[in-house]
Amino acid sequence: MGTGQNCPMPDASPARKPLSAPQKALHKLGLVRDIDLALHLPLRYEDETRIVTLRGARDGQLAQIEGTVTHSEISFRPRRQLLVTLDDGTDTCTLRFFTFYPAHQKTLAVGARVRVRGELRGGFLGWTMVHPAFHAAGGELPDALTPVYPTSAQLPQAYIRKAVASGLKRADLGETLPPALLGGLQAVVRGTWTLRDALQYLHHPGPDVSLDALEDRSHPAWQRLKAEELLAQQLSQCTARQERAALNAPALRAAPGGLHEQLLGVLPFALTTAQRRVGEEIARDLLRQVPMHRLLQGDVGSGKTVVAALAAAIAIDAGWQCALMAPTEILAEQHFAKLIGWLEPLLAPLGKRVAWLTGSQKKKQRTEMLALIASGEAALVVGTHAVIQDQVQFSNLALAIIDEQHRFGVAQRLALRGKMGDGLVSPSTGSTRTEENTVRTEPVSVRAEPVEALAQEPHLLMMTATPIPRTLAMSYYADLDVSTIDELPPGRTPIVTKVVADSRRAEVVERIRGQLAQGRQVYWVCPLIEESEAIDLSNATATHAELSAALPGVLVGLLHSRMKVTEKKAVMSLFTGGQMGVLVSTTVIEVGVDVPNASLMVIEHAERFGLSQLHQLRGRVGRGAAASACVLMYTPPDGGRLGETARERLKAMADTSDGFEIARRDLEIRGPGEFLGARQSGAPLLRFADLATDTHLLDWAREAAPVMLAQYPELAEKHIARWLGGKAEYLKA
Ligand code: ADP
Ligand code: MG
Repeated sequence: MGTGQNCPMPDASPARKPLSAPQKALHKLGLVRDIDLALHLPLRYEDETRIVTLRGARDGQLAQIEGTVTHSEISFRPRRQLLVTLDDGTDTCTLRFFTFYPAHQKTLAVGARVRVRGELRGGFLGWTMVHPAFHAAGGELPDALTPVYPTSAQLPQAYIRKAVASGLKRADLGETLPPALLGGLQAVVRGTWTLRDALQYLHHPGPDVSLDALEDRSHPAWQRLKAEELLAQQLSQCTARQERAALNAPALRAAPGGLHEQLLGVLPFALTTAQRRVGEEIARDLLRQVPMHRLLQGDVGSGKTVVAALAAAIAIDAGWQCALMAPTEILAEQHFAKLIGWLEPLLAPLGKRVAWLTGSQKKKQRTEMLALIASGEAALVVGTHAVIQDQVQFSNLALAIIDEQHRFGVAQRLALRGKMGDGLVSPSTGSTRTEENTVRTEPVSVRAEPVEALAQEPHLLMMTATPIPRTLAMSYYADLDVSTIDELPPGRTPIVTKVVADSRRAEVVERIRGQLAQGRQVYWVCPLIEESEAIDLSNATATHAELSAALPGVLVGLLHSRMKVTEKKAVMSLFTGGQMGVLVSTTVIEVGVDVPNASLMVIEHAERFGLSQLHQLRGRVGRGAAASACVLMYTPPDGGRLGETARERLKAMADTSDGFEIARRDLEIRGPGEFLGARQSGAPLLRFADLATDTHLLDWAREAAPVMLAQYPELAEKHIARWLGGKAEYLKA
């Protein structure tokens, strides 16, 4: 670094020539347009604006000094290194290089005047700097701090610096906010910063800046940037909502005496008040000719599946198809076996069937299923990701339900919505499309189909047991309606949660023995962290062997993610059937399984799990009438104690069994990125704003967005394009 290497200027214009390696690396970081570069903000800054004298310097200071080389030698002890002595007139400093080239030696020849920058270390032998950046002295000192950008190994800092600087220069940063909204914004960001000023400042802040305000992003320049980002997000959500309002979906009504009523009649239990309420919310959405876009959230075990089944019944009764997608095969099967058990007998008299689609299916069966789906004979299609594959052609899909929706990527959710365009033969009883409802602003996707067909979308119901705290859901997802089941079915005994150290393993095994003696079953979960899959697997295998030995006469099973689906199914069916007493599992994916006889859940290395994950796992027990318990076993780091945060998190688990409360604490401990980022959408959607601290900016953006869309649509469009580019579509999913 700093050796005067010539970095070619990056060419960010839409190039026809093949991309150079650094350009490819830029694209990989998502830095394609000028504006992307302009919005690529520094991680930190270096101060090259000043030259420090050695006499005035302090130990450990990151300093720039200038002086004359008085000595230069290659030493071989303790290892080969270039040692250079620099005299700045107040003191001397030894520069040490372990790798160096002839060009370096030339720049650092005795008598040369050089400027070097690095961390100063004081000591017995005087000042030293190891591998400082250096170049020949002279040239003006910059009048702003030097930005250090997030980058990748293929992209030298100097290159990205130049790329960003020229992107910043070229980017169109014209004001997108109409004067009418600008005043309000300036009040919340406490300043009259324009976007251009803010970016200019954040890339090249002056030397007297408060680094604290830059770091905690409270500086008005940051505030302006974050407000703009939130506005873009709100605009995109509002646009999605408006576009959806212009789309057409079949209106689905529950007919008296129809499938919906019949299903209610055969259920072995009465719905809880909460289930009834959310069921009505969904039914109201289905009545409308606008596609539903609803998130059904409810704690583990709150009974979401039956609510989904009732919605499906409405759609099927109206003559349409319904698709239900679950993230894994075992989950899809376990979870919906019951549902199918209820529905299938009711469908048979109508000449309708349930189709299954999974990845492990035999070709013959699959072909058969695809035919059923295409002909419309399959009224309900249940499966995994297989449901959204290209070969799957629905006859008339009206309702798409996604279970454990956070486990699916955004693209997959969009794909399921897009499935409606596949086949649009209106059913004999269900078509209620009207003239005005076929009008919409933009086609959903480019397909060679009649124009009015493009205006159709299925109703979409997403389900999750990882609740987004309600306030967050309401304010952030302006394009999402949220229904919440806030009550568990009656008769559940609360789960007792214990936090114990791994050293008390023997007691835990004793407890397992006790449960088994009462005819109960036990889960034992070992974490699987991708990077150390092999190690974790051997841990699980060891635990499996340990428990098998400790519990003679008990069938102890092992389930891990490397197993084939058929093997997994065999193990699961032994556990579900009750023959297997203990199930050791590395997989946390099959969390939806429902084995009411299981009464004890042991989680090894509980400290490695997220709170919501722990809560999901814990929800596997306490499904029957038996008193159930969850043991969170932690392993302190070698010889030490568990860290503060880790203890706090496990304690939170023991304190409450309310999924929303846990989600709230998770939010406090980890911040909303976790909810809105990877888990909810596949990619972090907010780069700058933080929903936990920037609520004032979010409030402003929520108010401003509808005004801007209604009164300044062109500016709104420009703003969305600038901030979200190609990502806007994703925000709608
Ligand atoms: P989740 O919301 O976690 O998906 P499920 O839909 O799997 O929960 O329901 C959990 C269990 O509770 C299932 O065995 C289901 O049949 C049962 N269940 C659902 N609703 C009720 C109810 N109202 N009364 C009693 N049991 C119910
Ligand atoms: Mg479920």
